[in-house]
Amino acid sequence: EHLSPLHLGQQHEGGDMSNRIIPMKLVVLGEGGVGKSALSCQFIRNHFISEYDPTIENSFREQKTIDGQAYMLEIVDTAGQDEYNAMRDRYIRLGEGARFRLYLFLTSLGFVLVYSITSRVSFEKLDAFHSSIQRVREDDVYPVVLVANKSDLEADREVTTSEGISYSKKVKAAFFETSAKLRMNVDESFMQLVREVVKMKSTEGA
Ligand code: GDP
Ligand code: MG
Repeated sequence: EHLSPLHLGQQHEGGDMSNRIIPMKLVVLGEGGVGKSALSCQFIRNHFISEYDPTIENSFREQKTIDGQAYMLEIVDTAGQDEYNAMRDRYIRLGEGARFRLYLFLTSLGFVLVYSITSRVSFEKLDAFHSSIQRVREDDVYPVVLVANKSDLEADREVTTSEGISYSKKVKAAFFETSAKLRMNVDESFMQLVREVVKMKSTEGA
């Protein structure tokens, strides 16, 4: 009699569905150098990356418990032509926009839209990243958290807090000023996004 590890696990957990681990994909988007990798690494590994490698494209996978619920989080740390856009473009090219939307519906997906308070250019590029999230169909909406990173570099600030707040209102996103370096508001940003993905999933089925 062979019992797979999966079966053994289920026996130990008693098959209680309320203990189910919810898988979720969080895609981190924004201009190069704003701190996407540093934020992702701080959230998952509690470590600040001080060197800058613009080509690193990571996928971090980690189980986290938020509000008493366990999640298997996949953080997609993008660089350049990011994974999400490449995937979406492939579906659109194949005339499979509808299938891509089904994929998005079945996957719990959220976006962290990042700029740096020290770079006006990164702030002005938000629109391009934000519209890339929603280009599949006009009325599709996915949870977004707007993150203004590098808030420890106050002396180099090029984007005011109120500019960030008004942009977040425009795109209906929660807003956090963060510092990946000081680990400030990092957990808060990702956890808020997880909560909003859960909320959106629960209203989608209704
Ligand atoms: P990415 O291209 O968006 O992934 O940017 P990185 O995460 O690689 O960060 C680019 C550079 O900015 C690196 O040298 C980081 O150490 C630095 N950096 C990232 N976040 C912060 C922050 O909150 N404060 C400061 N002072 N530097 C940061
Ligand atoms: Mg990076």
